[in-house]
Amino acid sequence: LTSTDAVQSDDPSVDRNGFKGHDMLAPFTAGWQASDLDPLVIEKSEGSYVYDINGKKYLDSLAGLWCTALGGSEPRLVAAATKQLNTLPFYHSFWNRTTKPSLDLAKELVEMFTASKMKKVFFTNSGSEANDTQVKLVWYYNNALGRPNKKKIIARSKSYHGSTLISASLSGLPALHQKFDLPTPFVLHTDCPHYWRFHLPGETEEQFSTRLATNLENLIIKEGPETIGAFIAEPVMGAGGVIPPPAGYFEKIQAVVKKYDILFIADEVICAFGRIGYMFGCDKYNIKPDLVSVAKALSSAYMPIGAVLVSPEVADVISSQSDKLGVFSHGFTYSGHPVSCAVALEALKIYRERNIVEQVNSVAPRFQDGLKAFSSSPIIGEIRGTGLILATEFANNKSRDTPFPPEWGVGAYFGAQCQKNGMLVRISGDIIMMSPPFIITSGEVDEVCFPSASGSSPVTNKLISIYAE
Ligand code: PMP
Repeated sequence: LTSTDAVQSDDPSVDRNGFKGHDMLAPFTAGWQASDLDPLVIEKSEGSYVYDINGKKYLDSLAGLWCTALGGSEPRLVAAATKQLNTLPFYHSFWNRTTKPSLDLAKELVEMFTASKMKKVFFTNSGSEANDTQVKLVWYYNNALGRPNKKKIIARSKSYHGSTLISASLSGLPALHQKFDLPTPFVLHTDCPHYWRFHLPGETEEQFSTRLATNLENLIIKEGPETIGAFIAEPVMGAGGVIPPPAGYFEKIQAVVKKYDILFIADEVICAFGRIGYMFGCDKYNIKPDLVSVAKALSSAYMPIGAVLVSPEVADVISSQSDKLGVFSHGFTYSGHPVSCAVALEALKIYRERNIVEQVNSVAPRFQDGLKAFSSSPIIGEIRGTGLILATEFANNKSRDTPFPPEWGVGAYFGAQCQKNGMLVRISGDIIMMSPPFIITSGEVDEVCFPSASGSSPVTNKLISIYAE
């Protein structure tokens, strides 16, 4: 079952739109879904809501794909794009030619990131390209330092770093590997830091973190520290099920990584710019990375853009290699696209002017507490998250050891009911994930937190009865 499947099963209230069997090879969609079912076709957005082509309104509780931080109708972003399109719709950044918006945005990002010092910014079109670029930088850096064997990258099970060849390899989700001959051999995976699912009986969060750090160290020693180039982690794991780190985790992990001269890559593609109540995830967890990936909220998703932030140490080694001896031969036609950069500059300006971190922190407790109030339900194993990101994991009798049979499609059923009743969530197995726009109002948060809300909205009333079922 999938959410779309369940929505469309003989339900006369479901709109048909005639796009069944369309011509698009759709991302993360099963072939049978595209051929047998009408897709949900979204046509318009307004604040925290989107509308389909039949005019039906949905609360977009995932902010698109964790990305429309300023919601779907911010006129200043539209104006920034229009102005840039009218002035210079495109110029590239190859061969020491570039544009002012890309220079300004690079400067802005270097100044904004303060968890550790950054010196240079490389622009990409996406988070996947940012993480692919990270691996190339690590290799280039170690080649330059005369350490040609220091090339392996350690990622974590259940991480999501993208879907290009290298970023999919880094991702720790089997579905991204099976049928694609991935991961590539230079990628290793260490433990997922999900305390609820993986702790041993009687183990505290701190002890769990210590065990994971020891496992990481053992893996490094087994492989040979001289073969490990970098470790990559999302501050809060996103697509793998919204997994905030357990107590002490990043402190212990960073100590190991540093001990063996391994670069730390922070994948901030979801966390950056306010999502977890800090400007960057690294600020919250005291992570001091050498390299950082950002995307999504960088432009509030109004234009595709990602970026890699590079520490002085790595940047200087790269520049020293490429300045006279040759060219740093990596880049995309659209690296630093002026329209994307202009929109991103405006998004960052809005975050500053509206104090977006404060705004997130003002609604986040209502969102977190509102949903966590439901955690005593016997069909909910865990509700977890921080700031404006949260997951609800269904489990029989609350136990991690007794998941519902996959064929029951519990998560899919719930997601389908949400969609039918006007709210879009992300479902992965029996996990429901939410990451609403930063501009969500407290009234809209109450709609998302249906179980504990007053029950005044039609969505709330319907969902309460579904939960009761
Ligand atoms: N890293 C993380 C943490 C992500 O969540 C994602 C996308 N969900 C990516 C990388 C890949 O980004 P993109 O889809 O823009 O390639």
